[in-house]
This record gives sequence, C-alpha cells and structure tokens, in this order.
Amino acid sequence: PAGGCRRVAWRLDARAPGSAARRGFGPQDALYLLVPDRFANGDPGNDRVPGLREDRVDRADPDARHGGDLAGLRRHLDAIAALGMTQLWLTPVQANDQPRHSYHGDAITDLYRIDPRLGTLDDYRALAREARARGLGLVMDVVPNHIGSGHPWLADPPRRGWIHGDGRFRATTHRRTTVQDPHAAPEDRAAFQDGWFVPAMPDLDQRDPQLARYLLQNTLWWIETAGLSGLRVDTFSYADPQFLSAWARGILAEYPAFTLVGEEWSTQPALVAHWQRGKRNPDGHVPWMPAMFDFPLQAALVRALGAPADAADGWLPVYETLALDFLYPDPGRLVVFAENHDTPRLLAALDGDVAGWRLAMALLATTRGMPQFFYGSEVLLRGPAQRDDGRVRADMPGGWAGDAQDAFTGRGLGPEQQAARAWLAALLQWRRRTPLLHTGALTHYAPEDDVYVYFRHTGRPGYPERGPAVMVALNRAPAPRQLDPARFARFLQGRHAREALTGAAIALDAPIRVPARSALLLELR
Ligand code: CA
Repeated sequence: PAGGCRRVAWRLDARAPGSAARRGFGPQDALYLLVPDRFANGDPGNDRVPGLREDRVDRADPDARHGGDLAGLRRHLDAIAALGMTQLWLTPVQANDQPRHSYHGDAITDLYRIDPRLGTLDDYRALAREARARGLGLVMDVVPNHIGSGHPWLADPPRRGWIHGDGRFRATTHRRTTVQDPHAAPEDRAAFQDGWFVPAMPDLDQRDPQLARYLLQNTLWWIETAGLSGLRVDTFSYADPQFLSAWARGILAEYPAFTLVGEEWSTQPALVAHWQRGKRNPDGHVPWMPAMFDFPLQAALVRALGAPADAADGWLPVYETLALDFLYPDPGRLVVFAENHDTPRLLAALDGDVAGWRLAMALLATTRGMPQFFYGSEVLLRGPAQRDDGRVRADMPGGWAGDAQDAFTGRGLGPEQQAARAWLAALLQWRRRTPLLHTGALTHYAPEDDVYVYFRHTGRPGYPERGPAVMVALNRAPAPRQLDPARFARFLQGRHAREALTGAAIALDAPIRVPARSALLLELR
C-alpha cells in the first residue's frame, strides 16, 4: 500500500461466560424498530462531527441528519419497555461517512465502528446492557450485500474483485425471482445479484473467500462485543446465495440458539420461504436463516384494511396468505409487521383510519409469528401516503428539547394519541403474559360477513385440546356483527370467555357481538 507497512497490536478478549448459549429473539418477543438519527437527541454535542463528509444537521430537511443518538435512546428505554416491547431493532448504527443521506445507515464505510454522530462503541455496549436490564434485547442491522461509496475499499480494495463492476456503478435489476426461477437466464440472475442497489452503495462480491471470511468475522465480533440478541439482514437475496448460507451457518455454529431475520421484500411466500432454515429447495439451495420478514402478510394486511367498506373480498388477502404457511418450514418464526422504515406508515396507508390501525395491531399481536412495530406508531404518527423515506422516518415527538409533544411521557399528546398508546401497551402486556399467543396452534375460519375469526390453542391446528385458548374476532365492517357460537363449537363448547384486556365476562350461549371495525379478544377457559 501507498502508506507502507505498519505494526498493529491485537488484543484477544475472552468470550463472555455462557455467550455461545445466548438465545436470540423468538415468538415471545415484540420488536420495536427505530431510526436512531430520528428517535431522540441525547447529546447535541455530537450532532456534527468535524472531519466527516456530511458535516451538517438540519431537522427541517427530511434527508439530512437530525441529531438523534444512542444517548437519547438510552434515556427512553423505560418508556419502550412499558409499551410491552422486548427487543430493539435499530436501523444500521455502523459508520456512514457519506456526503449525503448518511442518516439512514445503509451505506457503511467502516464495518467495525459506530457512527460517531450516534455515539461510541462503549455507548452501544452500554445501550445493550441497559436495555437487557429492562428485558429488552438488541438486534443489530447488518448489510452484507454492499458498503457505502465512502468506504476505503472502493478506492483501494484489499483484493481485486471484492466489488462488483470493478468499482463502477451498474444498477441491480431488482428481478429477485431470477434466484429461484427455473427458466431464468443466467445473465438476468447475475444482473440482479451483481448490480448495485444505488450508486452510493457499491455491491460486494461475497464469492471471494477472503471477503466472506471478513464479513463472518465482523458479524461474530459484533454479536460477542455488544451482546446482541439478533441480527436483521438487509437486502437479503441481493447477496450471493452460497455466501448467505455459509455465513448464517457460521454464525449458528458459534451461537446455535441465535436469531437472524432476513429482508426478502417479496409478496410471494414461495420466494420468502426459500431462505428459511429447513426448507428443501428444488434448486438444492440449503438455507440457514431461522427467521424471515413476512412481507406477503404485510401487503395482504394493508390491502385488507385499506379496501373500501363494501369490498367483496374483505379479509381474504390475509386469510389466503396465511393459508400458504405450508410453504414455510417454521411460520412461527416469521417477523410479522404492518409498516417499517421503507414503507408508508400504516396510518397513512389507511388514510388516517385509527380503527383500522387498531385492527392491524390486534392481528400482529395475536397471529403466528414475531410481531414488529415501528416507532411513533403508538402515538399515531402518520406521514406521507406514498413512499418518501425521509418523511416516513420523522422525528419522534419528545426526542428533542423543546418538542411540543412527548411520546415518552405523554405530555402534550391528544386524547386519541393517549388512548392508542395505552391500548397498544395493554395489548402487548397481555401478549407477553399469554404463552398461547407465542407458540399456540393457530386455527382460522374463512372470513364471513367481513369478520375474520381465529383461535390460538394447545393441540394441533383444527383440533384443540382441553384447556385455555384465545379467540380473536376482527370485524372489518363499519357496523357491529353478531357471531353464531355454534360455528365455533369446537372451541367454545364447555368454555367460559372473558374479554382479554378488560376482564369482562362474555356469554357464549348467545350470539357474540363484535363492535363496528374493531377487534374482540377473548380468553377462553
Ligand atoms: Ca446528537
């Protein structure tokens, strides 16, 4: 190298006791997704860091940095835990020394460094410790597919071939079906996997064994150093499939009970299922991912709740998406969600319909899988209806000194926001203390009259054992509905019901009333 050789002292730390046995997040958990730059500013002194390429902070600019940091997040862990959340997923916190759009974190320029505008490695480790003390695990967002264009590898790659296109931009086609498509032209598969996501994100060629080893070692280092409880893997299928398999397998070899969740943004369950551990794929690909995001259910849920009141198919998108669970080796380990940092917020997608928002939250908390919630949803942040990342990732009210509203303490919130926040907390606290909602079998009935009914129970789907069960009835209609208990006799006969969040007794020998556009949540004993 131009700078000549130098000597570097390496320190080898001992592993934390019991580290290999760490448990990753699972169906008992509720994940809280936040964008650190937009959540809370605990240290205005680090908003600008001289020497970095984007040396500017401007809260009025949705694409600029806003000053949020790890110190701010650490102040609000109690409020997050009180909501019933048990895992934190932060969008990438690794250094993004990029001239523009550095706030989102997806263009990493040093895989071993926390972005100094968010804090230090010690701050990140303190966050993990303080979160764990409150029952919150820490899920790191990792991006093995690409780096940021400000990464030194772009100008001076350790080996030729680490970056696709020899360092020159060539866009990915986003033709993700080419990975599994038995008819796909090899050129098309390469154009999808070897193209860059955007010019600011050079695409890595993980087929290089040295690079693959670097990425695996980097991941293991973060898990061990920060005490992580999971990884969220960005732009999953854009990376080399053999690398993805070996990388996840390598992580699980060190941490067998760890959890990784991959982002395969497809509405097709067949494509998502391809990547989950245990899937036997026709093309021979052996996947190792314990978990994947349930993008198909997300799209179905938004479609169902956004459909007009008189829509004929109502809940069918949700019902028929869950019907395809036979494609997954482990549908209980899909992360279910209604919105994230890359989609319009749910409330915007529903044009401000809070009743629809509650139906979605109720479904996420009670269907199979591991629910994920997006910061600010609990106080009904809305944002744009079309994709507009900088505005979707709005500042959390109360995260900045002088904010008129405080989503953490409730100060200045309107009554509808207060009610939504309290109701979501009650819903998630109930979920937390109800193991049936984590691992119980799921039996659902075909939607009728715009009501979707399902049960979580012991036994196998369709065949409940005696003992407690949960009944969920989601009424999409703008009018109350009456359910005939005889239709659900398999679950209701010989049982008593009470409303889960209020404890009110509900008669099961008469039609069961489900109020207009709302969720009825019953504990059966
Ligand atoms: Ca700051």
